[in-house]
Amino acid sequence: MAGKMGQYDVVVIGAGIVGMAVARELKRCGLTTVVIEKEEDVGRGASCRNSGVVHAGFNNRSGSLMAQYCVAGNRGYEAFAQMLDVPYRKTGKLVIALREEDLPIIHRLKEQGDRNGCPGLSIVGRDFIKEHEPMADGVAALWSPETAIVSSYLLPIALAENFVDNGGEIFLNSQVIGVSQGAEGFAVTCDTGLCLTGRWLINAAGLFSDRIAAMAGDSRYRLYPCRGEYHVLDKRMAGLLRMPIYPAPQPGDGGLGVHLTPSIDGNILIGPSAEYIGDAEDYGTSRAVLEKLTAEARELLPGLGQAEYIRNYSGVRPKQVDEATGGFADFVVEESSVISHLVNLIGIESPGLTAAPIIASAVAEIIGAKEKLVKDQNYRDSHRFPDRLYASTLGQRRNLAQTEPDAGEIICRCEEISKQEILQAMDNKLGSVSLKSIKYRSRAMMGRCQGGYCAPRVVKLLDEVKGIPTSRIQYGKNGTELFCGCVRGDEDE
Ligand SMILES: Cc1cc2nc3c(=O)[nH]c(=O)nc-3n(C[C@H](O)[C@H](O)[C@H](O)COP(=O)(O)OP(=O)(O)OC[C@H]3O[C@@H](n4cnc5c(N)ncnc54)[C@H](O)[C@@H]3O)c2cc1C
Repeated sequence: MAGKMGQYDVVVIGAGIVGMAVARELKRCGLTTVVIEKEEDVGRGASCRNSGVVHAGFNNRSGSLMAQYCVAGNRGYEAFAQMLDVPYRKTGKLVIALREEDLPIIHRLKEQGDRNGCPGLSIVGRDFIKEHEPMADGVAALWSPETAIVSSYLLPIALAENFVDNGGEIFLNSQVIGVSQGAEGFAVTCDTGLCLTGRWLINAAGLFSDRIAAMAGDSRYRLYPCRGEYHVLDKRMAGLLRMPIYPAPQPGDGGLGVHLTPSIDGNILIGPSAEYIGDAEDYGTSRAVLEKLTAEARELLPGLGQAEYIRNYSGVRPKQVDEATGGFADFVVEESSVISHLVNLIGIESPGLTAAPIIASAVAEIIGAKEKLVKDQNYRDSHRFPDRLYASTLGQRRNLAQTEPDAGEIICRCEEISKQEILQAMDNKLGSVSLKSIKYRSRAMMGRCQGGYCAPRVVKLLDEVKGIPTSRIQYGKNGTELFCGCVRGDEDE
């Protein structure tokens, strides 16, 4: 990799959902586009660490980009997810007034949503709550029929695979450390020695987008990381919840309040909390927050126990205001007013997952205002993931097992993932072979045992099939090797 050079119309920094949606859109518009990502796979930042809710847009200040992009994003999301073969379900959502004092809050939200153009909002009573979400309780609720859930971690993967299938390039494990401007545009240098040149630079670096802007000569931004922790409940609890339920947001909440969300995979997510932190990539979780989340979640869903918790995780919001200042700051989606051809995408916190396809169109419009874009007629929009064994009938499984033995061998018992699916995940188009890459693509190691049974088998397959010695197998990014030697038997090379 050392010293590798390349020249493009567009260099995108950051392969989260926003960077990948933008890169794909610009490639569709006929521009040679490359993506640089510091992690070992795409979607490793906020894009795989959120609630997975396709918001309707009533939470966002009227007139803001957040509100406009969210409402527009929601409208087209089903088609977007279908085109990319990413699981999506329109569930609707309830924002629950737990007590009489919350009633003005949900009425204000409805008015804001109506102004923003969210279809179908209504205030409903306790009977409606009980009919639609029997385990929940409250005095009234705001009902949003257009809210949906989606597999947020599969979206960047699908976008990236589609981009690569159409000739796009992605450099993983490459941290941008410098940006300079010359006659040919921006020269972007990485810690690997990679140096790529682009006429346009798209700054989609999430939590580090303030630093990338500064590297490119625009020092006007500062981000303040604000962590949100979650707890994941076992699928056995799936019957408890049909749709996301949120409390009426209280003044001073750093987010939308601790909510309960069914994940598209059948788990229930509790969270997120909101805590300003010093290190933007401190994805730790704590017992104190676990207890706080549980207590708040029980207000919405009385009777919730802790026995079904299978995992914690956290995501970090790139806030543009610090804790003391607080208040609202809109998405920054614009060509820098101080550096020409630098497009800054800054402060893309919630609802960034919902807004990503619209942000991508907005970036194409920014570029299209300065130069003529010609659609690539050969671009194939659709993407397909391999078929899922768990989605097949018993009869189909029997036939498959007879014709393809790897499909009949279950490696992950909790999630019913076959050896064939693990092998397909290992052979992914981005060439990423960390355990996390295989986990997100196949769902192995995501079930109740959290890899206790299947992780050693996946490790063995990586060794046998990919020839990666056990000592070099990584959980995630470089430096996360899992094994330091053998307890018995032969040493690894
Ligand atoms: C707790 C939480 C809950 C949320 N819930 C929702 C929700 O339910 N619905 C919704 O619509 N939105 C939600 N969001 C918001 C949504 O997740 C984000 O807006 C979205 O994922 C942002 O995508 P991104 O691509 O901008 O950022 P990221 O996914 O963070 O991607 C940025 C990428 O840039 C890379 N990068 C950074 N610096 C460099 C560098 N120097 N060189 C190379 N690469 C670099 C990073 O590694 C990362 O992969 C939530 C966010 C959080 C934190």
